[in-house]
Amino acid sequence: MLKLYNTFTKSLETLESTGSDVKIYLCGPTVQSSPHIGHGRSAVVFDFMVRYIKFSGKSVIFARNITDIDDKIIEKSIEENITYQELGERVTKEFKDSYDALNCLTPDFEPKATETINQMIELIDDLIEKNYGYITKSGVYFDVSKYDSYLELSGRSFDEVLRGTRVNVEEDKKNPEDFALWKISKDDEPSWESPWGNGRPGWHIECSAMIHDIFKGEIDIHCGGNDLIFPHHENERAQSTSAFNHEFVKHWVHNGMINFSGKKMSKSEGNSKFLQEYINNYGGNVLRYFFLRANYRKPQEFSEALLEESKATFNNIESLISGVKADLKDSNLESIFIESMNDDLNTPKFLGEMFEYINKNKNGDQTQITNMKSTIKFLFEILGFVFKDNKKTIDTKLLEDILTEQNIEIENDINVSINKFVKKRNNHRKNKEFEIADYMRDRLEEVGIMIEDGNESGWRWKNS
Ligand SMILES: [Zn+2]
Repeated sequence: MLKLYNTFTKSLETLESTGSDVKIYLCGPTVQSSPHIGHGRSAVVFDFMVRYIKFSGKSVIFARNITDIDDKIIEKSIEENITYQELGERVTKEFKDSYDALNCLTPDFEPKATETINQMIELIDDLIEKNYGYITKSGVYFDVSKYDSYLELSGRSFDEVLRGTRVNVEEDKKNPEDFALWKISKDDEPSWESPWGNGRPGWHIECSAMIHDIFKGEIDIHCGGNDLIFPHHENERAQSTSAFNHEFVKHWVHNGMINFSGKKMSKSEGNSKFLQEYINNYGGNVLRYFFLRANYRKPQEFSEALLEESKATFNNIESLISGVKADLKDSNLESIFIESMNDDLNTPKFLGEMFEYINKNKNGDQTQITNMKSTIKFLFEILGFVFKDNKKTIDTKLLEDILTEQNIEIENDINVSINKFVKKRNNHRKNKEFEIADYMRDRLEEVGIMIEDGNESGWRWKNS
């Protein structure tokens, strides 16, 4: 059974879904500027989670929102002299392209804030009616003094919150820590009609409204980066539990941030790294592998050197399993995978034990090795990696002709046949029959297989 660390209870808890489906909501991007590495990490680690839950036999309903209206989007669009819609559409496409390049599953629901305004207005209305919300000249606010368990999720103190709160001049709140549900817009700002005046929603209310709309107000996993715990998730929890009268989330799951030379990567630090650049240079698989190497909850150090390392290791894995069919054939390796993943998605543990296992078994018999390779390929596909199978891109008919020419049987695992071929050629070399050995090498090169006399296996695929 999968155990996940719950930020709220600060303990590992077994995932038990309320209904037949595991309902997952992930806070998605605010589409104000191009995605950076941190956005990639959040998308990929929760993609591992969704894929693993599906692999364990459960069905999943997965929603991830798009915040396409907020103060920063308005500011940025003014800076660029375009409308907030133009900016939002451009950046949304950049996010979508990055998610696709990283092979992240497309959510079942991908609501936009601007398409959920009516649901937000209804929810705010409900909060006002229940006395949690109050109306002022500048908007509608949530009165945190009415909500007893405020700050229980983040574990912050009111003092800390007050020190971090910047009160805008136009805000006329009862308590400085109250937060906006609805903001009255200035004349030149985008706005929607509401019972309290033309304006736009506060940031937190959209996720509460969407979860209510899609999941009838109750979900199994609420996830996002740990920079969202406060204020976003704290405020979401205050709104939702006040409106629906019960805890609306079973598991709060948060991923760690990306560090750059020990410093948190953030816009304010000015050290954000754009995702697209690295996708272009390294490809989705290598980035995915980079994220797989770290525990999703911990901070992860990012550098070009670490990406290079990931690239080299991933290439080794890819060439190890090239030509084999993905299949769960090795139950030991399958157990290693399940035990690691059940332990709060411990992907570095899985990798460490997998490499140990490969080392221990690399001199085993051929069937055992093939089963191990098939299983690695299967598990990596479960984790969302895509292999351009070399077997499919080579001229199979030609390879079979070349093997038949040497009286070598065509095996299910083509690697086995090629190994036999190389062994036969080595015997010719030992007997100093260099002419035939060279001929065999040239023939194999015709299908993109390079014979390397110093190499352990004796051969490699040309393009791997
Ligand atoms: Zn959210």
